[in-house]
Amino acid sequence: MPYLLSLDEGTTSARAALYDQSGARIAMESRPIECRFPHPGWVEQDALAIWQAQLDAARAVLANAHIPASGITAIGIANQRETTVVWDRRTGQPVSPAIVWQCRRTAEACHRLANSPAATDITRRTGLVIDAYFSASKIQWILDNVPGARARACDGELLFGTIDTWLIWRLTNGRVHATDPTNASRTMLMNLSTGEWESTLTGIFDIPRAMLPQIVPSSSIVGVTSAEHLGAEIPIAGIAGDQQAALAGQACFRAGLSKNTYGTGCFALLHTGPREPVSQNRLLSTRAASVSGNTRTTERVGSVFPATAGDAAAPCALFSNSRTTERGGGVFPAPAEDAAAPCALSGDAQFAIEGSVFIAGAAVQWLRDKLGLIQAAAESEALALSVPDSGGVYLVPAFVGLGAPHWDSAARGLLTGLSLSSDRPRLVRAALESIAYQTRELVEAMEADSGEKLKELRVDGGAAANNFLMQFQADILGCPIVRPTDIETTALGAAYLAGLATGFFPSVAAVETFWRAERIFEPQMTADRRDTLFAGWKDAVRRARLA
Ligand code: ADP
Repeated sequence: MPYLLSLDEGTTSARAALYDQSGARIAMESRPIECRFPHPGWVEQDALAIWQAQLDAARAVLANAHIPASGITAIGIANQRETTVVWDRRTGQPVSPAIVWQCRRTAEACHRLANSPAATDITRRTGLVIDAYFSASKIQWILDNVPGARARACDGELLFGTIDTWLIWRLTNGRVHATDPTNASRTMLMNLSTGEWESTLTGIFDIPRAMLPQIVPSSSIVGVTSAEHLGAEIPIAGIAGDQQAALAGQACFRAGLSKNTYGTGCFALLHTGPREPVSQNRLLSTRAASVSGNTRTTERVGSVFPATAGDAAAPCALFSNSRTTERGGGVFPAPAEDAAAPCALSGDAQFAIEGSVFIAGAAVQWLRDKLGLIQAAAESEALALSVPDSGGVYLVPAFVGLGAPHWDSAARGLLTGLSLSSDRPRLVRAALESIAYQTRELVEAMEADSGEKLKELRVDGGAAANNFLMQFQADILGCPIVRPTDIETTALGAAYLAGLATGFFPSVAAVETFWRAERIFEPQMTADRRDTLFAGWKDAVRRARLA
């Protein structure tokens, strides 16, 4: 029986999973990835250790499942996005530690840029809010701070890649230097409309074009692994940044479908189909993975918004009348001549609107690793449930500033509302609740952008396993939370992309039938209580932003 191998390189671990033709995961292996924090706000990883961990996980999953590499039809890759690696094209040695997406070392430079005349133009071209989060300022930092790096980059000796690019380059022994539009759209160097690197942007960040990988479609064969790594030459046929992979893994292939992933951070994405969104509420516009046929299938599967009149087959039916002019603050701009230009590579560009929270599950890790309040993340559920509420305690986990919709690099973590009754369970509960409050901020911004109320939210990621958190999320949003049977949607989405590119899966419509709800959390809290709690959160955030 043939299988797909999915490589899911996250912030905390590198995972490898095998899928059969019914979309079922038959095996998974994981290897931890270490983060280093050399200065406050700095986050680094060892790129070679990432590669080794990913290779180990892939070899282990094949060995433990007793499946030979020759039985693998294709590989799909999903990866932590924005994390930046620069390496020597001859030796394959990174010139510095990888700068992780959470790292704030370039915050000051980004702050200056955000206040410069170029800022509006950068946002218009990229769909991104100027922030240290994205790769461009990280590449620039390496070129400016690693001795000799800029000269070597100008001489064509150095290559840049996000983690997908780095893994593909390694797996192909340097034959393929490529990325896909979902990852490229997070660098701040790609024009979101055209799907191509843009010289205006590379000029602003002073990055030699020769360092940049080729942008290839997310669902297509981009190269073949060297046999020495996994035991056979295997086509690499799917690439997506982790959040766009999770969107695909949740079978959100068309406009109006959305998901929220609870991992290290929280990432809510709303698919907007072939139309490029423009947020009025400080969310990001980004590329979703294009798969052949995802704008053409006619069935509408589980829209998150109430059914709207109109033909679901028409791309973006949900928003077809929601131009800015008509709805005041709609997600989509009035069509401009060039905004409709399709991605030069895939021919059918797909977009999403995204809200990113930097610290979500990482707050639970902090409780475990820095405060020693819990031994394992899963323990947080029983502790939170052991008390009726947090007793007025709020944790604002702005450890690396605040992401959407605040985009405040200067904010720092804050614990507020402490009293003599504040104890370990209430602190743990406050940490979990902070994840739900931050998600509500994202959802509110999305609702304001789209002019539509969310009907339900599909969830995934490590912390989505926490039943307390999911129930509290439903309560704080006032809308049902739907958890699918397979919450490893990132790995699954990468498998879908590879499977659709190689005929392993016959169609997007077939893949959509694989999605199953495992549990639905219905809101139980009164509106009054929800509003009171959320008002307390907003007050705590206000204080964190003054800190
Ligand atoms: P990533 O892909 O970002 O590495 P994962 O999706 O693997 O993240 O999720 C890991 C994160 O989820 C960690 O930050 C961890 O603290 C948190 N987490 C895992 N299980 C639970 C749980 N049961 N309750 C709360 N948080 C959890």
